[in-house]
Amino acid sequence: MKKKLIILTSCLLFITLLIFYISSIFIMLNANTEKSKIELKDYLSIAIKAFDGSNEEEVANLFNNNKDLRLTIISENGEVLFDSFSEIDFDNHLKREEIQNLGEIVERKSESYNEKMYYIAAFDDGYYVRVALRQTYITNSIITYIIGGSIILVSSLALAIFLLFVLSKKIVAPINSSILRLENMISSNNNLKIETIEELPLVTNLIEDEFQEKIKEIKNEKAKTESILKEMNQGLVIIDDKRVVLVNKEALKLFKVEYDNVYQKDYIYLIRNIHLQEAISDCIYHNKEQDITLEIDGRYYFFTIKRFFSKWLKEGVLISFLDITERQNMEIIKRDFFQNASHELKSPLTSIIGYEQMIVSGILEDKDEIKEASLNILKEAKRMNQIIIDMLELSNLEYQKNFNLSLVNLKEVVEDTIKRYTKKANDKNIRIETDLSEVTISTSFNEFETLVSNLIDNAIKYNKVNGNIKVKLTNAYLEVYDTGIGISRENQTRIFERFYRVDKAKSKLSGGTGLGLAIVKHICEKLNYKVRVESVVNEYTKFTIYFN
Ligand code: ADP
Repeated sequence: MKKKLIILTSCLLFITLLIFYISSIFIMLNANTEKSKIELKDYLSIAIKAFDGSNEEEVANLFNNNKDLRLTIISENGEVLFDSFSEIDFDNHLKREEIQNLGEIVERKSESYNEKMYYIAAFDDGYYVRVALRQTYITNSIITYIIGGSIILVSSLALAIFLLFVLSKKIVAPINSSILRLENMISSNNNLKIETIEELPLVTNLIEDEFQEKIKEIKNEKAKTESILKEMNQGLVIIDDKRVVLVNKEALKLFKVEYDNVYQKDYIYLIRNIHLQEAISDCIYHNKEQDITLEIDGRYYFFTIKRFFSKWLKEGVLISFLDITERQNMEIIKRDFFQNASHELKSPLTSIIGYEQMIVSGILEDKDEIKEASLNILKEAKRMNQIIIDMLELSNLEYQKNFNLSLVNLKEVVEDTIKRYTKKANDKNIRIETDLSEVTISTSFNEFETLVSNLIDNAIKYNKVNGNIKVKLTNAYLEVYDTGIGISRENQTRIFERFYRVDKAKSKLSGGTGLGLAIVKHICEKLNYKVRVESVVNEYTKFTIYFN
């Protein structure tokens, strides 16, 4: 490339100098011609003044210093009387152009000497006085200039080429290194070599394409990351050098802040929770990574605080969190359930063990007493059995994903259930009235039967002696109404909880487990039914199951 550059620049320089040189020759030639013409006129007026009719030699001597100047004296009739160049016989000069056009400079070839001359003539005292100047007089002066100029031209060109050699090293070196870097930048074309400067646009185009491609890729990656950050249900915050450098939507929502108010600001503007602040500060200053569960606005969050290393971070800390409220609540429910279940099972078991010990140790000797104790053992065992049945029912409901749905005649299910409870109702002299429409819907037979049983069982259990029960079935709902002890407002919200009983003793006495309504609620949730309770203490209780 360097060689090419030198050749190209030298050619350019040469052409420029040549044009300048040739033009200057022409300008000079022109100027000299004009100057010589003026001189010629001066010579003529000097000759006219000096010539007195016979002193032509004397006049000619006046111009001796100029060998190219010719003086000619011509008679009135055109005969050449004197010519300073020679004494040859001249033809008649009357027809010569300059004689015909007196006072005008004429440029023509001399017929006598066969060379180009400039002529001017005047008529004075019966003689034509003519002066002429060889054209070579002008060109000779130019030749000197041409020789000198050519020497200057060649030597300055040589100097310029030499300087070009020296400078080109300095000029081309950084260009070459830039080109090398450009070549390396084009990853798509590893073998690309830039040989000439003309190839540079091709390379820059390739680089531009590659940059556009890279920018597109980066934009796509950015969009991808942003959408992931936006859509993830996990909160994410990255802190660098105590400043928030990344915060996603979930985190902004939890900490109730606007992005612009926290981005690139100290993390305390984003995270106001003192426990979290301490944990982050521990991570920054003591490299302590930790997981903490915090309750914020009534919900539970599991936070992970750890160091985060990346090229673009100085002192990164990553805080991620997950809303674990549901899981936490489930844990609480499970824990309470197991506590309640073991407690519920413990009391009948304690009674059973007590009666058994009395029988085994011989405290009870009387046959009737032993019989009564055995009956009590049986009763407590039955209670335990019922608790376990209900617990299993609940557990099945929780883990069973889909029920076996079929077309069920609800009226038949309700009638059959009432039949099964007739004896229990009669024992308390409770009258069961029905208003049942023919309703057949797609539902789970077993679950619907369990639901009706629990409601009718409760309506009998918590009814007064001689009380009433009304069961109504329509296309839209099932209603079980009783004139029993009723449920206070505050208890109405709690009766669907597991093992919750308004009056524990009364429930136990009537064989209740505290799980019946929890089962009802679960069945309704699974079948997409709605359960409502309406009650006035000591007056009535009405449970309504809406099918849609
Ligand atoms: P239990 O096995 O004790 O009956 P349930 O879950 O069926 O358990 O009912 C929870 C509690 O709701 C009962 O202990 C009782 O106090 C109250 N309850 C349920 N049904 C009625 C009703 N029809 N009338 C009055 N109280 C009721």
